[in-house]
Amino acid sequence: MQHLAIFGGTFDPIHWGHLLIAEAALQQIPIEKVIWVPSLNPPHKKASAFRHRLAMLQLATQDNPAFTVSSVEKNRSGVSYAINTLTDLSVCFPNTHWYWIVGLDTFQTLPRWYRGQELAPMCDWLIAPRLVGGENIAQSELICKQVKQQLKKQSNTIHWHLLHIPLVGVSSSLIRKLYRVGKSIRYLVPEDVRSYIADHKLYSEDSE
Ligand code: ATP
Repeated sequence: MQHLAIFGGTFDPIHWGHLLIAEAALQQIPIEKVIWVPSLNPPHKKASAFRHRLAMLQLATQDNPAFTVSSVEKNRSGVSYAINTLTDLSVCFPNTHWYWIVGLDTFQTLPRWYRGQELAPMCDWLIAPRLVGGENIAQSELICKQVKQQLKKQSNTIHWHLLHIPLVGVSSSLIRKLYRVGKSIRYLVPEDVRSYIADHKLYSEDSE
């Protein structure tokens, strides 16, 4: 049986915070690969064109043989729900023990995800603490336990691990905001991604 992790997100754009989380997962958990899955139609936010987000992901991950980018969500219409992504990937990668990489802020919303109760025990959750509301590691663990309690039905079968990462307050929305007002995004995103954003005039007022 192989062990694979899915890292789903909007990645609008991918930034160093995402990359260090995926690397931490590879280092700390016995997984062979991280499959990056850009959301086609995220349920909760508006996003830039899928082709740009996909291209930036490919640029940022291409030098790591343990990273794969999947455009599996392009095969489905409508809102991109995580449970459908996992089901589709299970067909492409049979005989797999699945992990799902997620930031603490996103994990907190799992009880409200579409069919979240069903999805929760289908994979192990690799949770990255995040500087939202100043949580420390002890608080992060408490939050994870609370989420588990909320997922009452099958809570005893939910597995989660907290990743050890240096906490960085970077987010895609911060990068978009900085770029829009002409501030530097150097060292927040890989250089290839920064060039892509400039070449395609992303994140300006009139971009897609
Ligand atoms: P936005 O600012 O537009 O909301 P984002 O930076 O949260 O975007 P996403 O692509 O939505 O980026 O995030 C994908 C996943 O990565 C989510 O589970 C999110 O919680 C997690 N994540 C993103 N940035 C960080 C970070 N700096 N630390 C921990 N987790 C993060």
